[in-house]
Amino acid sequence: MTEKAGQLADLARGLEGCERCSLAETRINIVVGSGSPDAEIMFVGEAPGYHEDLQGQPFVGAAGKLLDELLKEILCIRRDDVYIANVLKCRPPENRDPTAIEVETCKPFLMRQVEIIAPRIVCTLGNFATRTLTDRREGITKLRRMVIRAGKRCVFPMFHPAAALHRGNLYDDVRLDFSALKEYLSSPQPSDDGSDAETSQMELF
Ligand code: URA
Repeated sequence: MTEKAGQLADLARGLEGCERCSLAETRINIVVGSGSPDAEIMFVGEAPGYHEDLQGQPFVGAAGKLLDELLKEILCIRRDDVYIANVLKCRPPENRDPTAIEVETCKPFLMRQVEIIAPRIVCTLGNFATRTLTDRREGITKLRRMVIRAGKRCVFPMFHPAAALHRGNLYDDVRLDFSALKEYLSSPQPSDDGSDAETSQMELF
């Protein structure tokens, strides 16, 4: 087992039987994350839904199928090439929005995943993931496709694939975000000065 895989296994062990918040009472499985520990790209969604809760894996329902398609068609990669996690590791009842206390309780585990994977880019899918990882208050419509520096990592907010499932007119916008990500990944990697500078941003399009 590689060092990163071992660290992720430790993290998963630390979550076993978690009762840090009331979602423990209604969840079936804790959905920690999946994918390559050496991924260059990490995707962060909001929380497990019905299918994720049943299977214990992130993005295995309809939004996940669309994510798989976009990865394949636009980025020419498979889900095993990236790492996928959520802000919350347990499903909120009826897929309601995460509460502030749930986000704060679960956030250290997401931050540790980001630290272990140390990806080139963290793609936040939708408002909750973007707010959690950047502390920016603007909505996803304003922040999408910006590269936002947050500590040592670069965050790339994108529309959540579920947005295209709920509002068909957003399908092209969701695709556009994936095309912008591809463009970013094909650009030369700026040298990392390792600074913990305040969040800064650069608009791509
Ligand atoms: N939506 C999310 O945000 N995460 C999942 O794992 C599935 C759907």
